[in-house]
Amino acid sequence: MNKSEAKPLKIGDKIYKYLLGGVGSYDVIGKREYQDNIQYHLRCNNCNHPEPCELLITLNDYGQYVYVAMLNDDEDEPQYSWHTGEPFFLTKQEAIIQKGNESIKWQRDGVEKLRDRLKGAEEKLKEMKIYIESVNEELKIDRRDE
Ligand SMILES: [Zn+2]
Repeated sequence: MNKSEAKPLKIGDKIYKYLLGGVGSYDVIGKREYQDNIQYHLRCNNCNHPEPCELLITLNDYGQYVYVAMLNDDEDEPQYSWHTGEPFFLTKQEAIIQKGNESIKWQRDGVEKLRDRLKGAEEKLKEMKIYIESVNEELKIDRRDE
């Protein structure tokens, strides 16, 4: 999907993002229109601090809604890291699928790395066996000579 195909948001819409431990929701409460770009003002529904986070998101060139900036971050206890990273989606399912695919890729890379290490270890084992066998043969020959 590219930028022009993405559905624009309306005030009152909900948008979702994968947060640590699940999918969080945000309400679209405002819109800032610039010449070549629209930023959406969101209110976070996932906070457990007294004042909910408010932040801006925008569409990137890949047609994904992404974090731009916090509007009310707490200097003593910054909250922005919750809202950066994963993109925002129009449905919970898409947020789960995006995170799931990322996690599958990560796990698959891990499996590949372990497979390579296993191959390396098996080769070393084979070499070691061959070496020990050859030393064993030498020993037999030496004993015969005695
Ligand atoms: Zn929050």
